[in-house]
Amino acid sequence: MKGLVFDIKKFAVHDGPGIRTTVFLKGCPLKCAWCHNPESICAAIKHIPRIQRVGGSSFEVIEQVGREMTPNEVLNEILTDRVFMEESGGGVTFSGGEPFLQYAFMLEVMIRCRDKGIHTVVDTSAYTDSDKLMKVAQMTDLFLVDLKVMDDNLHQKHTGVSNKIILKNVELLSEEKRSLRIRIPVIPGVSFSKENIMQVINFLKHLPQPPEGVDLLPFHRIGDHKYERLGLPNSFRNVKHLNLKDLAGMRQQFEEAGIRAHIGG
Ligand code: SF4
Repeated sequence: MKGLVFDIKKFAVHDGPGIRTTVFLKGCPLKCAWCHNPESICAAIKHIPRIQRVGGSSFEVIEQVGREMTPNEVLNEILTDRVFMEESGGGVTFSGGEPFLQYAFMLEVMIRCRDKGIHTVVDTSAYTDSDKLMKVAQMTDLFLVDLKVMDDNLHQKHTGVSNKIILKNVELLSEEKRSLRIRIPVIPGVSFSKENIMQVINFLKHLPQPPEGVDLLPFHRIGDHKYERLGLPNSFRNVKHLNLKDLAGMRQQFEEAGIRAHIGG
């Protein structure tokens, strides 16, 4: 079996507790208009031109995005950082794209990680079948689930899919008492509104088991150059990025509702 890996990031500190190795699996069924990794959406290897500058000269090189790997190859890369994981209480995080798009491959790697006693986090949109979610849950220590926007029309408009499956899966994880953090990409004109946050709070308050906390992820534009390189339309090109101050009121809304909120990943 082989999986399509978009990237493996070492020493990640925003993808779960401690120092982590994050395995990004390529392919995503969503198409978030603000995605800062648009090259991760396509579930196939891509070749993208890039300008390389050396000294005073510049020339075009073709960069391959995505590589096929076996579960053991991924495990071996993860194991090279084991000492940092153990010292820091870290582990491995599976992200994307959407990691559930390569559910069987992810599960194979997770089984191997479990066998080695490595802490596992899955960072997901939760846009997947419930039975797959529950199988992966057996191997997962913590889920990081994105709630992008509660209004389903807005969700469909900006991500291309309905949020009904996502909300049902969050409820399921909660019913099954799985460790869960909610992540909210705070996007101007989409999720950056008092009304949306009230809806999120209402939803979270009615869960059988509350999440461990909420991470508010401020909109930024670090992916702008990727849209240019890929020749993709960037509808957020002129939108101002958000900072800690912008999100302070939103954080307070959560705190007042008794939900622990943190700004950043
Ligand atoms: S779910 Fe994540 S990877 Fe997929 S399109 Fe949205 S932001 Fe990009």
